Amino acid sequence: MSAIDNLPPLREVIATHQLSARKSLGQNFLLDLNLTAKIARQAGDLAACDVLEIGPGPGGLTRGLLSEGARKVVAIEKDTRCIAALQDIAAAYPGRLQIINGDALEIDPLQHLTPPVRIAANLPYNVGTELLVRWLTPPDWPPFWQSLTLMFQREVAERIVAQPGGKAYGRLAILAQWRCEARIAMSLPPEAFTPPPKVSSAVVHLTALPEPRYPADAATLSRVVAAAFNQRRKMLRASLKGMAPDIEDRLIAAGIKPTDRAEQISLEGFCALARELRRP
Ligand code: SAM
Repeated sequence: MSAIDNLPPLREVIATHQLSARKSLGQNFLLDLNLTAKIARQAGDLAACDVLEIGPGPGGLTRGLLSEGARKVVAIEKDTRCIAALQDIAAAYPGRLQIINGDALEIDPLQHLTPPVRIAANLPYNVGTELLVRWLTPPDWPPFWQSLTLMFQREVAERIVAQPGGKAYGRLAILAQWRCEARIAMSLPPEAFTPPPKVSSAVVHLTALPEPRYPADAATLSRVVAAAFNQRRKMLRASLKGMAPDIEDRLIAAGIKPTDRAEQISLEGFCALARELRRP
């Protein structure tokens, strides 16, 4: 679905509302509406969903999400300067855009959303990573969202989808892939943004699985993965020795060689070890 929204081009919106990009808010805007519609399409079928958008800025991706048919968009933006520009979009899509002026790290948007919910964002990468970790570690699974479509620095995107055996493989890969399908959906060069950032970016799409891929206690898995990767050059029998006095036996029982390093252990292996660590 695609609608002509009769709104002015984003460069004009930025000039009218004096939205010069602020480094402190990580502002690198997407001004090409064909591109923002393409990103919105990566989020899947939006027609029956509420979409939570974090950091809409002048509204390029917001317009993409709405023109691609989102039932409703709830957008949380910290920069008060952007609110008037977003209100113009809300007027063009009556009843479909709710704007919340505030910090996404402090606001609980749940009361504004009706399931099913998808999340989409082009955020400063540090805020994006912090929110991603929160969204991946809710108290219960499945979470309140069906999918996440998020822009990251290319290097962070690669850490999310990484497989064992490389430098990119670590906590983020295990956290993301344990209970989600994760893939890089698009790559974007710096020139796609205004102003251009120093590095390339990528859109990561994560779909929540109904159940974890392998059974494990979330807190134990998180602890063992943190300990293993905090000392990633060490053998596991050394990096994990604080986890249990008989850690070598437990590693072996989980099918892992005590002399292996964190990077060599699959998600399935870490889950088996988390289960072993829960045994009395
Ligand atoms: N989505 C817009 C786009 O694609 O052009 C803007 C992207 S810009 C990279 C990041 C946006 O996130 C900015 O509008 C910034 O003000 C906003 N932002 C930064 N930190 C935020 C926070 N903690 N909560 C909500 N919005 C935030």
